[in-house]
Amino acid sequence: MHSQQPQFETIPVTSVEVVCDGGQGALGHPRVYLHIEGEEGFIVCPYCSRTFVYQGDHSHAA
Ligand SMILES: [Zn+2]
Repeated sequence: MHSQQPQFETIPVTSVEVVCDGGQGALGHPRVYLHIEGEEGFIVCPYCSRTFVYQGDHSHAA
């Protein structure tokens, strides 16, 4: 038995400024701008409940 998929998507982002329009399909909604607070490191879209998780910048990546 596999564990169930999360009910909502978790989306890694590299900017604290996020634009969400729900993506394609049934979850689509008017475009909204979200701002990830530094202390929490994530924000949940109030329309489609997708969770955007701040990954930090990748300036140190090879
Ligand atoms: Zn959304």
